[in-house]
Formats: sequence, C-alpha cells, structure tokens
Amino acid sequence: MESQTVIRCKACDLNQFLTRSELCRRCRQPLLAKPVVVEEPRPVAALPPLPDRPAIDMGRAVWLLRSALGLSQRQMARKMGIARTYISKLEGNRCMPSTMQVSRLAGTLGVSEYCLVTLATLHQRNTIN
Ligand SMILES: [Zn+2]
Repeated sequence: MESQTVIRCKACDLNQFLTRSELCRRCRQPLLAKPVVVEEPRPVAALPPLPDRPAIDMGRAVWLLRSALGLSQRQMARKMGIARTYISKLEGNRCMPSTMQVSRLAGTLGVSEYCLVTLATLHQRNTIN
C-alpha cells in the first residue's frame, strides 16, 4: 500500500494528497520545494600579482665591472681561461653563471661575490620605479 502524503500548496493553500506530478491540483504550482540549487563556490578573487622579483642582470654587472677595469672581453676571457664568447653571452644575459662561475667572475673583476650579485640586482630595483 502506497502511503499518501498530505501536503499544502504554498501558492493557493489547498491541502491535498501529493500527486505523481507533484503539482497542485488547483493551481498547478509545484507542491514540493524546488531542489535546492547548490551554488557553485565562487572562485576566489584573484590575488593581486606579486611584484616582480628583482631579476638578476648579471650581464650588466659584469659589463660594468669589466669596463671599470678597462678590460676587453678578450682580455677578461684570457684572465679566466675561458672563451670570449662566454663573456659575450654572459653580458647579454644569454646565460647565467653557476655559483662557481660567479666566484671566478668576482675574483677576476676584483670584487666580492656579494658585491657582484648586489650589483646585478641593484640595477633592476632602480628600474622598477
Ligand atoms: Zn495550489
């Protein structure tokens, strides 16, 4: 035996058995609450982009120090025992020196590694403003 649910129409207040159509027999409004629409969680507002981290302009730092010493790329390459094209690549920021190379570069340029790296990042900070 099917149990019959008595339900009151919210639109016209008619008490009635719930029909298969689940619509009010008088006003044809749905008797049951509409399925709750689960709201999609709103996407979290995009965070403001982080300020650019100062990029290392190692090329400029090397170029500055080399120029200050009056060394040509070739002379500097000879001092380091490396190819001149490497210095050229380095100054064009087409390659990044390894930690070991930073140490050698700093030594060749007569500055500390700290100085070289600071010089490489200072320039970038100045250009952000
Ligand atoms: Zn009704």
